[in-house]
Order: sequence, then structure tokens, then C-alpha cells
Amino acid sequence: MKALSRRVCSFTDSVIRRMTRISDAYGAINLSQGFPDFDPPRPLLDALAKVAYDGPHQYSVTYGAQNLREAIAGKHARTVGYAVDPDTQVLVTCGGTEAMMCAMMTVCDPGDKVLVFSPFYENYGADAILSGAEPIYVPLVPPAYDFDLGLIEQGFRDGAKAMVICNPSNPCGKVFTRKELSDIAALAIQYDAYIITDEVYEHMVYAPAEHICMAALPGMAERTIVCNSLSKTFSITGWRLGYVVGPADVVEMAKKVHDFLTVGAPAPLQEAATVGLNFAEDYYRELNALYTKKRKRFLDGLDRIGLKHNIPEGTYFVMVDISDFLALPQFAGWTDLAFCEWMIREIGVAAVPGSSFFREPVNHLIRLHFARSEATIDEAIDRLGKLAALLDTP
Ligand code: GLN
Repeated sequence: MKALSRRVCSFTDSVIRRMTRISDAYGAINLSQGFPDFDPPRPLLDALAKVAYDGPHQYSVTYGAQNLREAIAGKHARTVGYAVDPDTQVLVTCGGTEAMMCAMMTVCDPGDKVLVFSPFYENYGADAILSGAEPIYVPLVPPAYDFDLGLIEQGFRDGAKAMVICNPSNPCGKVFTRKELSDIAALAIQYDAYIITDEVYEHMVYAPAEHICMAALPGMAERTIVCNSLSKTFSITGWRLGYVVGPADVVEMAKKVHDFLTVGAPAPLQEAATVGLNFAEDYYRELNALYTKKRKRFLDGLDRIGLKHNIPEGTYFVMVDISDFLALPQFAGWTDLAFCEWMIREIGVAAVPGSSFFREPVNHLIRLHFARSEATIDEAIDRLGKLAALLDTP
């Protein structure tokens, strides 16, 4: 048989989602793929039940149901701070995943260069390959995950057409400051580049950090493609609803990509989710308070059992440093992937190996998340205590 597409053969399946499958096979507590174990808000469920009988059950308008696009435009105006036209500047997608892929395919021709921070959410690698773009990686350097602006300027000078920014940043929890965003914005304007921004954790930002959307900075709405999702904000990752907001000429092109990739996002779920996007600000405040509490519980737990970790300013991810374990004789020479697989089997907790997020050869970090009930967080910490105890044994 002839070889299959070189493009598709050149990347693996998602390690994040593979860890979920292994976790499920062993019945572990899954702190790998980020999704909540609690229900969506009641009004969304009530709306979904009603939709079952009242419809719609057929295609929506390919670029999103009118009422949902209007609700998205309303939320964008309230939270990001400027008005967008729901007819020309909003595209409803199948999750943030399709939003990102649409944005990349809309911006890039084969051979175009795109700046991507490392560590990065693993989809961006595949997005770049599938759209033919060549990623240029810019390190976010731990522990503060700072970056060298000079490298970004170098990338733009070398012809990068766009830069991908995940803010707050999966997996490292960085929330970009106004100064950092303004510095990048100045370069994007100077070199006439696009910014593709992934904002799916916008409501999981912990004081004193503050979420600022790149598109809200002066001169940036016209060159920023905002990708977002309803998954995390309304605890509906399985509904596969996301969106793109951007300049009308860009969104018009993105609509074409979306039209031929998926035709549209699920119509009944769009209808039910519209209720959520029309929630008042209290909803987002409560969501933030909920995750602030979970973050504290999880980080306090990690401190209590003595696992070293970063302190995320945003998202629900925590990077745990496993260097001390890899220095033990029983783990000598292990990869972080082998360690995570062992952890699922022997400790009963699933994490994602850090190497799947870094361009650089990083093998000493694993990513865990705390989008779990308090009881599950406590049980996970108990189990991780058994792991930490390995370091006490002389
Ligand atoms: N963003 C989530 C994570 O990093 C997963 C999203 C997905 O699997 N589509 O775990």
C-alpha cells in the first residue's frame, strides 16, 4: 500500500487524551486531561431538556445560531470591553479546538512561520502541521515562565506571520501582564503580524493576577483572532462548543474553513448553551471563587505531603517537579511518560508528562489539574502522599 499522508504521520495522538484512556482503564483518579467532574449549571441542563422536545434538531446556520452569536457578542463586549458584530465577527465552532485550527488554517499558507511559546498546549503543534505552518518556539522560562522579547522580535524579523498566545497559559498557569502583552502587541503592529489568542481559561485567573485579552489593547482588535470555548466556563467539555471572535475580513475566511470542516456545531447544544452566555456577572465571580478554593485546597495538599510545584496564576493546572523521584534508583533513566504510566498503575492518580508540552528536552515535570470535587482532591492528595513517602525512605 502507498504511504499515508506524511503530514499526518509526523505527529502522534494527543498524550493528554491518551492519559485519560489509560487512567480509565486502571480506574485511577484522572488529574490528566483537564475537565471538571461536576455538573454544568442547572439552567443549562433545564434548557437542554427542553431542547430535546422543542428542538432545534437540524443544522443551525453554519457559522452559529443567531441567538448564540448575539450572546457571544454580548459577553465579549462585557468581558473584553468592545463591541463586535454578531453577524460578521463571530463564528461558533466545535470547541476551542476547532476555533484554534480554523484560526491557524485561515492565517497560514504552507511554509508560513508562526511563533508559539514553549511550553504550549499540545494541539498547537498539530494545528501548525495540519495548516502547513512552521512553528518557531519561544521559551517561557520556569519558574516565573518569563520570556525574552528579543526572541519574539527575532521571530517576527524572520517573517513570522502570527503568534499564538494561550492566556492564561496551559500548562504552566502563566497569566500575561499588561506590560508583556503591550510589548508583544507593539511588535505585532510593527511587523504587521496576527495574534491568535486562546482564552479558554479566562475566568480561572487568581488574584492579584488579572486577565487581559490581547484584542482589548489599542490597535489590536484588528489583528487579533480570539479563540474561546464554553467548555471550561460552563463545565460542558463534552458539548464541544467554542468560538472565534475577530475582524470581519478574517472571520469571513474562517467561516469557510469551518463550513467545510464541520458544517456547524451541534444545534441543540448551541440553543441550550445560549442560556449560559446570558448569565449575569455573578456567575463568573462565583466560578472564579470556586476554582480559587479548589486551587488552595490542592496546593495546600501538595505542600503538606511535600511535592514541589509551581503556583499557577491562572488555569486549573499545576506543574509538579519529579526530579527527586527520577534520582531514586528505582526510577533511574525513566522518562516522564513512563513515570506517569507507573503513577496511574501504582499510585492511582493520572497526570500528563511535561515533555508533551515542551519543545525543549524537559523530563522532570508532570501536569496535574484540580477541576475536581473537594472529596476527590483530598483522595488524590492522600494517594500522592504515598508517592511523596518514597522520598522519605533512606
Ligand atoms: N485543554 C485540556 C487539557 O489541556 C483538554 C482539552 C481537550 O482535550 N480537548 O487538558
